[in-house]
Amino acid sequence: MEQLHAGRFVTRLWRVVASLLLLIAILIGQSIYTSRQQHEEQAVVETYSVARVLESDVGNLVDKVRLAIHTVATEQERRLAGRGTDEQAARAYIASIHANLPDVLAIRVTDAAGHPLYQSEFADAPASGIEDHPYFRKLRDGHFSGLAISESHRDGPDGPWVVDVARRYEYPDGRFAGAVVAPIPVERLVTMLAAADVGPSGAVSVRGEDLGLIARHPPFPERGGPFEVPAGLRDLVSRGEISGTFHDVSPVDGADRLYSYRKVAGYPLHVTVGRATAEYMGHWRRDMGVVAVLSSVLFAVAIGATLMVDRAWRRQRRIAHILETQAHTDPLTGLANRRHFFEVADAELARSRRYETPLSILMLDIDRFKEVNDTHGHRAGDRVLQQLARTCLEVLRAVDVVGRVGGEEFAILLPETAIDGAVEVAERLRAAVEASEVAREEGVPLRVTVSLGVATLAGNANLDTLMSQADDALYDAKRSGRNRVCLFGQAR
Ligand code: GH3
Ligand code: MG
Ligand code: MG
Repeated sequence: MEQLHAGRFVTRLWRVVASLLLLIAILIGQSIYTSRQQHEEQAVVETYSVARVLESDVGNLVDKVRLAIHTVATEQERRLAGRGTDEQAARAYIASIHANLPDVLAIRVTDAAGHPLYQSEFADAPASGIEDHPYFRKLRDGHFSGLAISESHRDGPDGPWVVDVARRYEYPDGRFAGAVVAPIPVERLVTMLAAADVGPSGAVSVRGEDLGLIARHPPFPERGGPFEVPAGLRDLVSRGEISGTFHDVSPVDGADRLYSYRKVAGYPLHVTVGRATAEYMGHWRRDMGVVAVLSSVLFAVAIGATLMVDRAWRRQRRIAHILETQAHTDPLTGLANRRHFFEVADAELARSRRYETPLSILMLDIDRFKEVNDTHGHRAGDRVLQQLARTCLEVLRAVDVVGRVGGEEFAILLPETAIDGAVEVAERLRAAVEASEVAREEGVPLRVTVSLGVATLAGNANLDTLMSQADDALYDAKRSGRNRVCLFGQAR
């Protein structure tokens, strides 16, 4: 029973520890997840607010440019209606407008074919036509009266990269007369983007109508493009969203980033602000490294401690078991010792009485054992005792109980065995001992014989009576010549 409890205790301990560790693991997992979400959300908030600032910066710039070219276009239309000034004055007018708008490279007026008529720059500056640009065709053919914004392109063969902002102007009858164009240097936009705080690995872009890159900070390699539009961005824009967030691995530098996107209000321009995932998750990763180490230590300690308790319990149980066995067992033969034999025999006797089943007892004594000891030594005598114990176990049933009750005397309890059966068992035992040999370290094997006395439970006899009856019978067996079986009350 005690062993069972000890076993249960250890199992229960393991269960409690495992449940606690599982609970802790779940809590840690949850906090790791929550913390990750928080870092992600913070990055969203940060990039989003930067995107808003940039959107308004870019919007304001284009507003200014739009106003300037609107003024020029109106003046141009007035001139065409015959109410305006001459060309010289027009040029001066444009120059004065440009002087107030240093953000653009120039303000140019083209004819209906896209060829430059005049411009705000010095007369010798190169001014190529814009007839090949899609935005010009759109202004010309589409009766598009709004503001067109070009893709980024070089202003002239070796000129700086620019984005043209343009609108059309018309003859009084509404026919297309030409375009007013103001190229914004890409550099101007990049300066704006560079001011945004997105960490050392961030990336900020302005994209045009078809989401083609216009400006990026850090600058993208000129020969690397054209780069694909991030799927997340294309998705947001195609759904008509004016803002949103998406993740993308940049084809420019291979970095994974979280982007916030905003459409510039009123214009076909799109701002994206990206923070490198590795960077904004860096703190989280470091924190989680510490959490991982600490929880590993916690788990190791908990499991280690439980293992130690487990081992200690098992050892304790083993020792208790050994001690108990030792207390019951005769060390030389491994049979029940005298005390244990009497305990078991008492219980068997009580059972026999209760169920009224027969019970017999045998007393066995080695014949002339003193001679064995004297002739071959005590060690050889011990071997004889051990062999005798083995022979007993071989001949007897599992339910029979053998005890070494004296130096070379053995008592054998035969439950549910009546007198005839008991005599038969005794005879078999006697014959088996007679037939068996005890090997010696040197010399011929030893042979011994035994005498047995048999007694059977009758009436109200107690164990002492029964044992002394068997003893009497054994005495008879010795007296009548040894190596034989005698039954109590039937002296031969
Ligand atoms: P018998 O029984 O036939 O009358 O003669 P015996 O020589 O066997 O006489 P007894 O039964 O009186 O013998 C007891 C001897 O048993 C004494 C002792 O030397 C021996 N003996 C008792 N215990 C041990 C033991 O543990 N080991 C050995 N080797 N001998 C033992
Ligand atoms: Mg004896
Ligand atoms: Mg003897």
